[in-house]
Amino acid sequence: MLTEVADGVWVRQSAWVWTNSIVVREEDGLILIDPGIDGSELNQLADDLDRLGIPVVAGFSTHPHWDHLLWHSRFGDVPRYATAAGARAASEARERAQAMAAESASGIPLELIALVTPLPADGGPTPGEIIEHQAHAIGHAAVLLTDRGVLIAGDMLSDVLIPLLDHRRPDQVGAYEMALDRLDEAARHVDVLVPGHGAVAEGREIAARLAADHAYIDALRRGEEPIDARLGPDTDWLSGPHQSNLEQARTR
Ligand SMILES: [Zn+2]
Repeated sequence: MLTEVADGVWVRQSAWVWTNSIVVREEDGLILIDPGIDGSELNQLADDLDRLGIPVVAGFSTHPHWDHLLWHSRFGDVPRYATAAGARAASEARERAQAMAAESASGIPLELIALVTPLPADGGPTPGEIIEHQAHAIGHAAVLLTDRGVLIAGDMLSDVLIPLLDHRRPDQVGAYEMALDRLDEAARHVDVLVPGHGAVAEGREIAARLAADHAYIDALRRGEEPIDARLGPDTDWLSGPHQSNLEQARTR
């Protein structure tokens, strides 16, 4: 079911790690951001879009992790965008993303995973202002819809997941600090925050989300294990060699 969280902005949440698919109405049609997860849910999302009766004109992937690189033929053969760095990383990681999607969920059209291209220089049907940063994943973008008062945060500012650092790259604590500073600034213009996973936040809850991620990263910066009730990265829906955020912060 699509929930309209602001004028022309809808969210559909999957049971899989509370993943949010986001639909944004622009002048020419709809832009689909991070649609997911199961094949049956992608189908239901296509039904919801049929009911809206507005064509999908583009897709956008906030970052090159498999759960944000999905698509379904019923959404149409339209361009799917990411930041330039995100698109490059997605094509390099395509096979791995397909394997993880096949392992983690059912009915996902594997052949459509990760087919994203860099946003055109002229803007094209862009979904708002892109806030690119280096936290969590290469080429990660938040999307700021100033006219609707909405910030789409990708895998940051979740109420269910702790900050997830990209353990393959150096100084993720610093990258996270810089990203949060930019999201602080962006959040001044919004009333609604849509994270990649978890509940949509409104009003004062947005500042609380920012504060929670800041507190987590501040603890890492001090060399302390953060106290945080949200889920951590050793749950089995994230794969790859596990190293805690604190171990990672200490070794770089
Ligand atoms: Zn994710």
